[in-house]
Amino acid sequence: MGKKSSKSVRDLLFGDLWEYATAPQSSDFVDIKDSYGHYIGGEFVDIGEETFTTSNPATEEPIAEVALGDEATVDKAVKAARKAYDKTWSKMPGRERAKYIYRIARMIQEKSRNLAVVESIDGGKPIKESRDIDIPLAAAHFFYYAGWADKLDYAFPGASVNSLGVAGQIIPWNFPLLMAAWKIAPALATGNTVVIKPAETTPLTAMMLAEIIDEAGLPPGVVNIVNGMGETGAAIVNHDDVDKVAFTGSTQVGKIIQRAVAGTGKKLTLELGGKGANIIFDDAPIDQAVEGIVNGIFFNQGHVCCAGSRLLVQENIHDEVIEKLKRRMSTLVVGDPLDKNTDIGAINSREQLERITTLVDAGVDEGAEMFQPRCSLPDTGYFFAPTIFTDVTPSHRIAQEEIFGPVLSVLTFRTPDEAVKKANNTPYGLACGVWSDKGSKLFRIAGALESGVIWGNTYNKFDPGSPFGGYKESGFGREGGAHGLLPYLEVR
Ligand code: ADP
Repeated sequence: MGKKSSKSVRDLLFGDLWEYATAPQSSDFVDIKDSYGHYIGGEFVDIGEETFTTSNPATEEPIAEVALGDEATVDKAVKAARKAYDKTWSKMPGRERAKYIYRIARMIQEKSRNLAVVESIDGGKPIKESRDIDIPLAAAHFFYYAGWADKLDYAFPGASVNSLGVAGQIIPWNFPLLMAAWKIAPALATGNTVVIKPAETTPLTAMMLAEIIDEAGLPPGVVNIVNGMGETGAAIVNHDDVDKVAFTGSTQVGKIIQRAVAGTGKKLTLELGGKGANIIFDDAPIDQAVEGIVNGIFFNQGHVCCAGSRLLVQENIHDEVIEKLKRRMSTLVVGDPLDKNTDIGAINSREQLERITTLVDAGVDEGAEMFQPRCSLPDTGYFFAPTIFTDVTPSHRIAQEEIFGPVLSVLTFRTPDEAVKKANNTPYGLACGVWSDKGSKLFRIAGALESGVIWGNTYNKFDPGSPFGGYKESGFGREGGAHGLLPYLEVR
């Protein structure tokens, strides 16, 4: 055979022919300050002495110094929130609260380009995701809950509803602005005031949100943003004058928080880890399912609590699905988060990269078969190639533990019952996907899955009108939809 024909079809289709030129998103228009303090009682508080650094995970370069709030800072914030609750916010008619919440939504839209760029610089996510998903959904969440503010009596017919008081909220680093929106919007709509702590690796868009809230003219103290680490979060959870705690983060910290509030009378919602099963039946549209598998596990570098991190594929289509999946993985662009072509950006922190590497090593040691497409990773920054493991058994660590990275564990099943048993064989219960041509099968399987969210013939679709939350070690309480009002209300 001549040299020309020695290339495989795969190489011809997905090798050197499809190299994209870079398409960088400019970032020189964003104004990131050298340092950030807190936002308390309507004032931007100075950074103080105790600080930490937030850095760019794609370059490892420091971006800004950020204040590390202690118990005294949290106390000030809670006092400001209490005052705002007593004096203004709880007394304000819902239709007036709605105007402020709408204003925040509109201003997020106006500043969406800046917010998207900063989100990608601080957190490592691809610009096309922060631009097209995180920021629009954050605005949509405020719009949605603004609509509920004057209709609470209709949400729970026959009951009377009251706000709770001061909500203490702690959010993670995987969707920084979006999680702030998920927490703040329903709290404000229901008449509560807020003390919120962003994650320590991604505080910047929360501080931009503080600027928006300030510009929107919210009464001082209605929203207070305290920066800091885990201890700062614990100070919020343990503060006597906090009436409600809402936490999104790891199951490990969720358990600590649940213990801390036990017996205090504080209302609690926890949105914790997951090990979602994406179940592909042999009657599913395979090409669409492959897209769903990719979106399920590689979206946001797999830093997604509801990620479809376990693929359950019916045995008779295993080889076809895996071959198509590998081919599709070979087209994924890994690298600079600010490049508009990038599909997989930077892992959020060195610590997270180490966690992923440890679990992937465990997968190899336990005998699963690893595949990574050919791709060159940048020399600096925290990056991890998209990875799948086949020959995985349910007892492997990579089938049981949340990896929170771009790593998929593939298992097989023969019958629908076996699929359900395997999908439920996890301490978690957050999200699943079911792929089948038959609606009746889809609904039957969905009814048997122990999972808060179940997608049918799609994955990782979010809407503010749709409730989200887990069972088992994935937590309790719902965010989004009318369900998301309930954790912030006393219903009589
Ligand atoms: P991860 O391990 O993925 O970083 P964490 O659950 O540790 O997730 O972090 C999620 C959020 O919880 C962050 O804002 C973090 O600062 C905060 N946090 C960490 N430890 C505690 C704690 N003991 N009490 C309250 N908040 C905490």
